[in-house]
Amino acid sequence: MKTVFLDIDTQMDFLYPAGALYVPGAEKLVGVLGKLTQHAAANRIPLVSTTDAHSEDDPEFKIWPPHCVAGTAGQQKSGVTLLPRRYVLTGALDALDRDAALTSQQIVVEKHHVDPFNNPNLPRLLDLLEAERYVVYGVVTEVCVANAVRGLLGIGSGSLQATKGDEDARLPAPNRDREGAGIFNGAKHARPVQVEIVEDAVKEFSEPAGRDALAGLVSAGAVLTSTRAILEKL
Ligand SMILES: [Zn+2]
Repeated sequence: MKTVFLDIDTQMDFLYPAGALYVPGAEKLVGVLGKLTQHAAANRIPLVSTTDAHSEDDPEFKIWPPHCVAGTAGQQKSGVTLLPRRYVLTGALDALDRDAALTSQQIVVEKHHVDPFNNPNLPRLLDLLEAERYVVYGVVTEVCVANAVRGLLGIGSGSLQATKGDEDARLPAPNRDREGAGIFNGAKHARPVQVEIVEDAVKEFSEPAGRDALAGLVSAGAVLTSTRAILEKL
């Protein structure tokens, strides 16, 4: 089964206490994040890593404190989550370099939004990688991890943001309809995709919200797993 790892926002501003939008306890994930990263490399599993890459006056900062501003130390990924041969995919039109994506160990997908699928190149990239199984981990469970999983399951995203009253976040991700998020739901591939969430490699802002998010994702079709289970089976 062709597997792709999806590493969500494991960046300094989220992972560490000195970070601009610290996720409490997230630094404790560093050990498993390193293991998963190395497992991907050792088994030639494509590693897709989303990263916030905000502008200094990003509209998202009306909701969240400023964080992960492009070019700052806080925006960088933790070293344990990086592989040597990586390719950075921006959201710019026609930015997807197919050869680079297929020959890199890691594709870093930049985004400006809590929904990674807001980068219109992400669906194109995932389509190119032809995964049948996604292993998802990172931060923040009830925000970007949940949005990523919902996108993979083809059920859209943004439910959390809609409750926060942010007009911008209620808008559908650009190109979703045109590209068809449903391509990940079996419409294009012969087999439906399997989406696994590594429960000990995600972290939430709020424990009840994280628990509710995971329960909702499981009822939508995602499966919970552990780092140990992932490392034991290819
Ligand atoms: Zn952000």
